[in-house]
Amino acid sequence: MTARLIDGKALAAEVRERVSGEVAEFADANDGDVPGLATVLVGEDPASHVYVSNKRRLTEEVGMRSIHHGLGAATPEDEVLELIAQLNADETVDGILVQLPLPDQIDQDKVIATIDPTKDVDGLTAASAGLLAQGRPGLVPCTPRGVIELLDHAGTEIEGAEAVVLGRSILVGRPLASLLLGRNATVTTCHSRTRDLAAVCSRADILIAAVGSPKLVGAEMVKPGATVIDVGTNRTEDGLVGDVDFEAVSEVAGAITPVPGGVGPMTIAMLLANTVAAARGRVGAVV
Ligand code: NAP
Repeated sequence: MTARLIDGKALAAEVRERVSGEVAEFADANDGDVPGLATVLVGEDPASHVYVSNKRRLTEEVGMRSIHHGLGAATPEDEVLELIAQLNADETVDGILVQLPLPDQIDQDKVIATIDPTKDVDGLTAASAGLLAQGRPGLVPCTPRGVIELLDHAGTEIEGAEAVVLGRSILVGRPLASLLLGRNATVTTCHSRTRDLAAVCSRADILIAAVGSPKLVGAEMVKPGATVIDVGTNRTEDGLVGDVDFEAVSEVAGAITPVPGGVGPMTIAMLLANTVAAARGRVGAVV
């Protein structure tokens, strides 16, 4: 392996340490009050249960309040919308996280649209997406925010760089493209209909894969010395693998994130950072 390994696990621990300090400062300035993150989990999906329990544990570890609502798999949509309305009105709740996916009887878009944008710590509402698209301050989706922190940590120059993002989802690809543009990269977004993906990717100084296709990105798609960030998490017979063929690409790239231990830990760390930002917004501090 010639590429430098970008250690997301270590960086996420640093970010949580930073957030912990911010929580303490917030409490000092606000009579001991600490930011509160509400998690909403509907159903019994085992992976979602693991994600939410990790989020709750780390929320408390940095000194914030975790408020959890676990609902049965058959919960009707109205009940979920009513709960979101209550959390919107609750002054002790700074951030609302609805764990996705939701069961089929519930319209995910409707639920997201009900979240108060000032509490939208996942950055998924149209209001948050609009602010980001316009390059204005707001709550930014956690995974893309984590990717930018990883690039900065790796010392990768974003300004003026040719950046290629694989994937155009609302959760990852689109917000990531906006963030990179906001940092003055020249951005290309690829998707399932992109012609000659390899040719487009091999121009990239920064290549980010967020597709959900195991080992889609091979060494022939990577410019020598490029920084490669692998957002993909695919459960295969060989265990958890990314969208990048790590072994082959790490012989060509200048720096690369592993899976696991790259983007994943950063996502939760950014959720905690967003919750502090939302709490500061509530008390009128600059976000
Ligand atoms: P998604 O909503 O399924 O979007 C996948 C995107 O990839 C779509 O835009 C799709 O194009 C594009 N695509 C599919 N096949 C392609 C191909 N052959 N070439 C180029 N583009 C292709 O997925 P997502 O939610 O963005 O997640 C992407 C991956 O990141 C998944 O593995 C997910 O598990 C992972 N993820 C990880 C984290 C983390 O914290 N580590 C967080 C979020 C997501 P079209 O738009 O044309 O269909």
